[in-house]
Amino acid sequence: MRERDIERHLVKRVKQLGGEVRKVEWIGRRGAPDRLVMLPPTDGVCYLRMRTATTWVELKAPGVPAEDYQLREHARMRALGQRVEVIDSIEAVESLLS
Ligand SMILES: [Mg+2]
Repeated sequence: MRERDIERHLVKRVKQLGGEVRKVEWIGRRGAPDRLVMLPPTDGVCYLRMRTATTWVELKAPGVPAEDYQLREHARMRALGQRVEVIDSIEAVESLLS
């Protein structure tokens, strides 16, 4: 299985859930996660309590680890409260979206 197959599965599943996926690239910097996943709010009772589920996803072929420069960027983003996941399987896509 290739990274592209896992990416296609991610896009299909997010759309099924009413979300959007965008391909991402930083300008002038390496290490951007491949995709930004946006899912609809799960709690619509009160606007202030609404949570948007936004996750940055770096996709990899099965068993292929993220590069060091990607991991450094992920660490910088997580330190600022961003959720960043490295996904290398269909199962990991399903786990992310469950
Ligand atoms: Mg990738």
